[in-house]
Formats: sequence, C-alpha cells, structure tokens
Amino acid sequence: MPQAAIRYHDPLLQLEAEANKTIIERILLLKEQKDVLILGHNYMHPLIYNLSPPEARGDSLALSKYAAETDKPIILFDGVVFMAETAKILNPTKKVLIASKKAGCSLADPLRGEQVRALKKQFPGLPVVTYINSYADVKAESDICCTSANALKVILSTKAKRVIFLPDSLMGENLQVELKKMGSDVELIYPGKKNKLPAGKCEVHDKFTVDDIRRVREQYDIPKGHPHRAVLVHWECTPEVVQEADFCGSTSQMANYIKEKKPERIFLATECEMAANLQNEFPQTEFIRQCNVYCQHMRQITLKGILSALETEDKELHEVIVPESVRKKALVPIQKMLEIIG
Ligand code: SF4
Repeated sequence: MPQAAIRYHDPLLQLEAEANKTIIERILLLKEQKDVLILGHNYMHPLIYNLSPPEARGDSLALSKYAAETDKPIILFDGVVFMAETAKILNPTKKVLIASKKAGCSLADPLRGEQVRALKKQFPGLPVVTYINSYADVKAESDICCTSANALKVILSTKAKRVIFLPDSLMGENLQVELKKMGSDVELIYPGKKNKLPAGKCEVHDKFTVDDIRRVREQYDIPKGHPHRAVLVHWECTPEVVQEADFCGSTSQMANYIKEKKPERIFLATECEMAANLQNEFPQTEFIRQCNVYCQHMRQITLKGILSALETEDKELHEVIVPESVRKKALVPIQKMLEIIG
C-alpha cells in the first residue's frame, strides 16, 4: 500500500499520519478489494488527499474528467457533493460514493434550478453560463458550463452582448473587470446584479481582505512584483483582493504557477489545506499558510466517513444519485464546455 508509506515534511502531519495508520490501512485495503477509484480534491486534508494516486488528485473539473474515463466500478469522491454529482453526470454507469452528503458549499447551496428558471424568465433569451461549482439541477438549466480557468473564453464563445453568469457573484465582478480590460462590452448578469437573488460567494475566498494581503506582504517580505516571491489569489476573491495580488487563477493554474516558476516563498489566498498539499509536493517553496481560513464543507469529508462509505456503500448516507432526466440535461452544458476547451 504505497500511500500508507508517505512521509510528510511537516512533523505534526507525520504524527497525525501515524496516529491514523490503522484507519488509513483499512481504507486502502477496501479500495483494493472493491477496486475503487478514490478522487482527492486539492482542499482535502493531506491524509485524505494522499489516499488518491497522484493522477487522481486535483481540482473539481480535472477530477470529474478523470472520473469520466475510469473503468473501475466504484468512484469515491473526496470533495463536496456537487463535485461528486459532476462525476456521476459524466460516468452514470458507475457507483459514485461520498463520505458525507452534508458536504455542501456556500456558493452552490443558495442557487437551485428553480431560481435559474425564474432568472431566465426575467432575462429571456440570454445565454446562461454556469460555473462548474454548482448543483446538477442548476447545470441542467444552463447553456454552457465553465471553470475559473476558462470562464472568459466560454463567455465570449456565446457571442452575446449580455450573459447570465452563475452562481458566483464575486467571480462575475472579476470577470466583468477582465472583459472591460480586454475591450469587450459584454455585460454579465450574476446573482445580486439587476435581480433579487442573493449574491453567491465562496465563504472561504471572500474572507481575504486587501489588508490581509498587505499584512502578509509586509510580515513575510513578499513585495508586489518580486521575481521569486508572490501572492496568488483565486477568482472567487473580491475584485480589490484580486487587484492586490501578483497572480490570479484557478486552483490548477495556481499549482502550475508553482511548478513552472518554482518561487522561493508564496502565499496562497485560498483554502489552507491546498497549501499543505502543495508544500508536500514542492518542498523547495516556502508556503505561508493562513490556517484559520478553511472550508467547513470540505471538512465534512473525514477518514471515518470515507471508511463508512467504502464499508457500507449505503445508498442513503453515501451514494450520490442524480435523477436521469436531470443528468441528461446537465450533461449538455458540460460537454459544450469540454468541446470549447478541448
Ligand atoms: S471552498 Fe468555497 S467554493 Fe469550495 S466548497 Fe468550500 S465554500 Fe464551496
């Protein structure tokens, strides 16, 4: 069981791994016996992240694409529910399990298919571009999906002058700024803009303020524009924070930035565990971590829950079900996006 032999650079993490050795070994044994693909999102605790083989770790879309190609009969998705739904949409013949169905999302939870239908009535004829971080019934009402890495490309592909962008209002604001910078006059309508929907926000990325970024820069000597030190942020942060950063990108783009530029010191304005996971992968880089910033939804995924999912495969507690009528409709906008990005 290669994963059980992982040595962590962080001594506390190593102690934690040793304390959880029995449950980790039991999970890995069941994984082998039942021929399960375990997918690990970047925001998982390192002990959970490392249950997955390196090629099955990553962000929401990368994992779903990987899930679509597997021939294993069972997929266990270590991420939140909407991510596991996407895996099921793309590979419906497989059994998709999750450690806890309580793993929601502050961004995805407030918007469901019903609200999208109401919004489409308010803005008839506008194309609906939906961030992959959304539930299946929202995707089912959408024209095309996007990720934070390809959102601009997808929006412009609609050729429309006004586009409904769901569900992330802060990403919508950031994309609007970027569109203007590019000289585009496309107007984005997102939750809270010219409609009564509550603004959709990721409670993790929304926590970072400009003062936080400036304080980190000063305290850890990361001046703006430094050739080997940088502050990286996500499109789900506020526009002010995005403008204060050295680089803004998706989860996978952040990881690629580190891989390519090999910075000596870095601050990631994102979920704390992502830095912990990357630290293990890129020991040459010093990661400044802000560990009071974590996703309570991702933390619903525990070793105990994973063991229960693998042992019981309980339909009520662990199996992710997407009604076939919703699945078929939700597949269309995902496929359209995949056609565009290749
Ligand atoms: S990090 Fe943000 S977008 Fe991701 S699951 Fe948590 S609340 Fe949702």
